[in-house]
Amino acid sequence: MAGLLEKIRGNSSVHATLLDAEIRGRLAPTLLFSGPSGVGKRLFALALAQNLVCENLRSSELTNLGPRACGECGACQRIEKGQSESLLVVEPDGAQIKIEQARDILQFISLQKLGRARIIIIDQAHLLNNQAANALLKSLEEPPAGTYFILVTALAPSVLATIRSRTQTVRFRALTDDEIAEILGEKTDPWIVEAAQGSVENALRLSESVEEFRELDEAALAYASAALTRFPLAEVARLKDLLKEKSAQGFVAGLILAGLRNGLRMQAGLKPRTAQQGWIDFAHATAGLSPQILGQLADTVLALPHEMARNIDRSLLLENLAIDLGHAATTANTHQSALLAGD
Ligand SMILES: [Zn+2]
Repeated sequence: MAGLLEKIRGNSSVHATLLDAEIRGRLAPTLLFSGPSGVGKRLFALALAQNLVCENLRSSELTNLGPRACGECGACQRIEKGQSESLLVVEPDGAQIKIEQARDILQFISLQKLGRARIIIIDQAHLLNNQAANALLKSLEEPPAGTYFILVTALAPSVLATIRSRTQTVRFRALTDDEIAEILGEKTDPWIVEAAQGSVENALRLSESVEEFRELDEAALAYASAALTRFPLAEVARLKDLLKEKSAQGFVAGLILAGLRNGLRMQAGLKPRTAQQGWIDFAHATAGLSPQILGQLADTVLALPHEMARNIDRSLLLENLAIDLGHAATTANTHQSALLAGD
């Protein structure tokens, strides 16, 4: 049996840096793992916890990396099974992490430490409410010896500044298509790998309901492409109906965002990261927009899922974005024609 670390793909240089610091006794006691959701931040926090408590650290035979958790000793196994007396994992209770949960943490760190180290993982740390955060400030600033806080979030800018300033931020990135394909193994479908946008969580969800997500992809592409040349009335109506679920909203926003990023890539002379002709055409059409306009459009797209979650009318949001896309495209075309005329 192997330690959890060996089950994780991607972000290997981030992992190596932290494990190296840990082995040298230089690990910051309060860490903030930030980066897209579904890229293994929480799993790596658990792997790091294993390294901190393992009773039988051993050197890897394959590499010259430092000692790693064995995955087999009692301490390692209890971490993996979620039964470790050295680990406390805190998640939001409803929409927030509340003061009662902060008190549980304070109680946990006031007890006698049993193993080599004690780890508190706070998942979705951006949901710590003010009261809970205030109760934890002192402990986060200076945890007791051998105590480590690992805060995990996909929304680092939303973590309270008082918390952020007391942590060392570690940035995780989206996985590459090859890494996603490796995780999916036999189930690999090139469309899923691409649509997962670097998130293992997405890849697994897409694998479970491919048809549903393919329809979303098609509707999003039809909507975004049409918006560049005309007002997409029918496309808005279709897409709006498909965007009832939060996962669908995030997925579609991600697709349009990737389309805009591909526009930027083409501007820079790079190939678009998509194999789908429709999205290549979309990227080609948006490559004529100024980076500033592309940035503004990206901000609007990024805000979509949050605004939909706040129950703002979905049709209205899609119509507004369509108007922005159309306006940007018209401006760019006028500009391009002028340039071509001067050729
Ligand atoms: Zn072990």
